[in-house]
This record gives sequence, structure tokens and C-alpha cells, in this order.
Amino acid sequence: MVKDTKLYDILGVTPASTQAEIKKSYRKLALKYHPDKNPGSEDKFKEISYAFEVLSDENKKRVYDQGGIEALKEGGGGGGGHNPMDIFDMFFGGGMRGHRGHEGPRRGRDMVHPLKVSLEELYNGATRQLALNKNVICGKCNGKGGKDGAVQTCNGCHGNGIKVIVRQLQPGMIQQMQTVCPDCHGKGDIIREKDRCRQCMGKKVVRERKILEVHITKGMKDGQKITFSGEGDQDPEIEPGDIVIVLDEKEHPVYKRNGSDLAIEMNIKLVEALCGFEKLITTLDNRTLIVQSFIGDIIKPRDVKCIMNEGMPLLRDPFSKGKLIVQFNVEFPEKGDIPSATLQQIESLLPPREPIEKKPEMEEVMLSDYDASASAHQAYADDSDDEHGPGGPGVQCRTQ
Ligand SMILES: [Zn+2]
Ligand SMILES: [Zn+2]
Repeated sequence: MVKDTKLYDILGVTPASTQAEIKKSYRKLALKYHPDKNPGSEDKFKEISYAFEVLSDENKKRVYDQGGIEALKEGGGGGGGHNPMDIFDMFFGGGMRGHRGHEGPRRGRDMVHPLKVSLEELYNGATRQLALNKNVICGKCNGKGGKDGAVQTCNGCHGNGIKVIVRQLQPGMIQQMQTVCPDCHGKGDIIREKDRCRQCMGKKVVRERKILEVHITKGMKDGQKITFSGEGDQDPEIEPGDIVIVLDEKEHPVYKRNGSDLAIEMNIKLVEALCGFEKLITTLDNRTLIVQSFIGDIIKPRDVKCIMNEGMPLLRDPFSKGKLIVQFNVEFPEKGDIPSATLQQIESLLPPREPIEKKPEMEEVMLSDYDASASAHQAYADDSDDEHGPGGPGVQCRTQ
């Protein structure tokens, strides 16, 4: 029993969910609410990141399960509060390389961008253009920020970027504080206003819109990464990071994907289930397949069959494909569709039913129509104190 389930609710999982389910859910939601794709969703993105940060860490999860969010806060720093972007980058594999830091040149952070792709694009391959803004070194001053010699060491901090401020709290008691130097904003050097490069205003970099061509290869998967090395933000002092594109597969109205297999549902009539059929299937590359079943094959409701080599193309071998899995729904005639006389004829043709042996102590009962949603409603009304009344929030949850 956990104290509260808020963080689980945010991720759409339950305390019983496995780490794999938590990861999967985070991946879906983080891509959906990434602020690049969804401006205005920053708060939601933060919530999701925080929930994942806690629930994916066995220690933090235990603290949360026992004591709720308050316990995490009391735990001193255990409350998380990492930058949501760092969590995202780390999860999608970009972030770690940015922290290499100590050996070699400093490297900028990788920029991760989600890209929504349709199942057709993953099946056929596609080229997509993705526009994004990034910092590039100013061409006018070559990243110097001004004319040669214009850059001077900041007087306010003597080039350290950090200033020590001494405050007297009361006579005999002083407080020392370190702050980022307000004159140079922590950079350590400064360019006089009149010497600043007019294109970048002394910032050394300018914002530029860049179009990336993303090549989607047949058979690529949801969550797959495409890396553009060294295409991240430029800065005169550090090596640029990568741009990492993460594919986000859109749901398809007909086809469901499971690795290299595809699955569809097919409705057939009772006569087709017994006596065979021919049905058309439109593939994701717009071919038409004729599926055949012969008299006597007999397909039962929920039966599953497959068509070989009509699933997703394999990434490393695009001429081979997985399976197309077909799940059957058998449509029975409705009450009244078949006259009783015809049903009697059908009965004489079908294998006979097995009679039962009736005994006097047995009871005969009637079958009524059953409505599952109405029954759930009834059960809820019975064990509540009528706080919500019919149609309250609890009812909606149960009947979904
Ligand atoms: Zn410039
Ligand atoms: Zn300074």
C-alpha cells in the first residue's frame, strides 16, 4: 500500500507497474509533451520528468511509496529537481556525452528533438525536413564578439566571472557571498559597447534557423535515434554537441505494430467463417492483397492467422518482412435475421447438440441481457455513501 499515487497517475502507471512499463510510459509522454513539439507544455513536461526521476530510482521510489512527496522533500535533495531536459537527454541517450568534461575539449550538450512519423513512413522510408534554431558562431566577428583587441578582462571580477560580495549584517558580523559577476554575466571578459560586433551584439554567436534532412530508413522503430554529429549549438570555446532526432511513431488507424510484425483485425460473417471468403487488404505501400479462406477452413471468433512476409520491412534486410497477423471477429446474425423455419433447417444440417439428463432437484433459470457498464454503476452506487451521486468521477473511472 503506497501513501499516495500522484506520481504514478502523472505517468499513467500504477504502483504495481514494472520498471519497463514506467520507462515506456515516460518515453511516450516525454515525446508528446516535449516543449519543442508542444509549446506551452513546459509544466506538464516538468511534472512527467519529476515523476520519472523519482519512480525510476529504486531508493527514491521507496521513500515516496512510504511517505509521499513530503518525505522526498524532507530527504534533503532527494526530491529531485534535475533539469527536465537533462533527464530527457539522459534517457534518450544524448546527455551523458555532454558531461565528459574533464578530458579533451569541453563539449556542448546534445540537443534531442522528437519527430513524429507515420507507420507508412517507417514502412516505405521517407525523407523529412526538420527546422530548428541553433546558435552558430557569428560570421562577422568570427566568434570574437568585436574587433581585435576589443575584448578586455572584466574589471568587476578580474576575469573570474565570480564576485565575492561582503555584507555587514550587524557590527562585528559579516557575511561573504559568491555571485555571478553582474558586469560580464560570468564570462570574465567584457567588450565596450561601442566596440561590440553589431551582428551578434558581442555575444559571439547568433541564432540561426537550420533545416535538417532526416532520412527515415525502411523498418526503423519507434524511439530510434538518428544522430547528426556536431550539429548542436556552436560556441567559440567548446566543441559542439550532436543533434539527436528521436522517432515517435504515430498510431495507425488500421495497423498495429509489434516489432517487425503488423497486426490487423478483420470482420467476417458467419457464413464466411464456415464456408470461406475472399477479402481485400490495402498494404502500407498501397498494394492490394486478396486473402482467401476455403470452405471448411472454419474460422472461430478471435482466431488468429498470419500472412508471411507482409509485416514491417526488416531494418537490415529491407527485402524481407515480418508477419501480418490477422485477428478475426465473426459477425453472427442478429436476433430475427433468420426465420425460425430456416434455423430449424440449419439445425438439421449442423452436428447434433448433446442432450442433458434432467433431474427433479435441478432448477430452471432464465438468461437475461447483461450490460457490464450498468452493472459496474450499480456496484459503485451500492458501496458508496452517495457522496458523488450518479455520474460522479468514480463512475467514469470504473466504466472506461
Ligand atoms: Zn559578431
Ligand atoms: Zn566580470
